[in-house]
Amino acid sequence: MLVPPGIAYIDHDYVPMEDAKISVLDWGFLHSDATYDVVHVWKRRFFRLDVHIDRFLESARRIHLELPVGKPELEMILAECVSRSGHEDAYVEMVLTRGTSPTFSRDPRDAENRLVCFAIPFGWILHPDRREQGLSVAVSEIQRIPPASVDPRVKNYHWLDFVMGLYDAYDRGAENVILKDAGGNLTEGPGFNVFAVHAQTLSTPRRGVLEGVTRRTAIELARSLGMAVEERDVHADELANADEAFATSTAGGIMPITRINTEPVGDGNAGPVTKRLIDAYWHKHDDPDWSVGVNEILSRKE
Ligand SMILES: *Cc1c(COP(=O)(O)O)cnc(C)c1O
Repeated sequence: MLVPPGIAYIDHDYVPMEDAKISVLDWGFLHSDATYDVVHVWKRRFFRLDVHIDRFLESARRIHLELPVGKPELEMILAECVSRSGHEDAYVEMVLTRGTSPTFSRDPRDAENRLVCFAIPFGWILHPDRREQGLSVAVSEIQRIPPASVDPRVKNYHWLDFVMGLYDAYDRGAENVILKDAGGNLTEGPGFNVFAVHAQTLSTPRRGVLEGVTRRTAIELARSLGMAVEERDVHADELANADEAFATSTAGGIMPITRINTEPVGDGNAGPVTKRLIDAYWHKHDDPDWSVGVNEILSRKE
């Protein structure tokens, strides 16, 4: 099967992406019983690696998974995957599944947790060539899985709500989707958080969402630029009448949303606040306070 080029770390070995395979008896495959995180590498530097790894460890802890390696070793594995892949810009994922048990026991405590990491080419939810045009999203009536059932702060693969939402969006002529909660407030999209901009004030859903690293970065950058940011319930109508809207994700950074349910947001083009944040975001990618070189990590081995 054709897969993107890259290198994976699986069962204590580095292998080409096409050879990275797990048992069909893994709880991760059978029950979506896993957590994961994605960090990106830009010009051979990891962006906010510390924050991603801390979130990954916290996600694992919350769902009773145990990482087989410590934090320094995990950093080394991720850097090794990127280095061996040869990619300058990479999408780097770490996955921890419940794993398999030798007896096919139905007790999750009997399974041996499995760590898989990989580096493949950088992926975009919205390619920079289309930045001016922006994303077209639908706000679906398919409800996001409630936080009382699956904690959205644990990055997870319970994606059927999102995937059904995507089909709903395609039917309605949009390319991506945002789901609401039971109260009609916005939550998030498949792999991205959402912001609405009214004048110079940003608002973003405060609950029922993954606390995205890009979301946090956008909040910090906006505040440092003197903008007001409100983390609160944001009703779907507020997005429809916003001056600007944008999505945030490690898979592409800060990305303008220019159409909601086929109607233009503001004048239908990427707005000035969003563009300012996009510039600030990419500018931070070689700042040593926010990024670390792949070789810098590898050189710790000696
Ligand atoms: C990964 C993800 C995001 C974005 O998080 P980042 O850390 O910014 O990449 C938002 N929502 C969901 C559901 C996600 O899986």
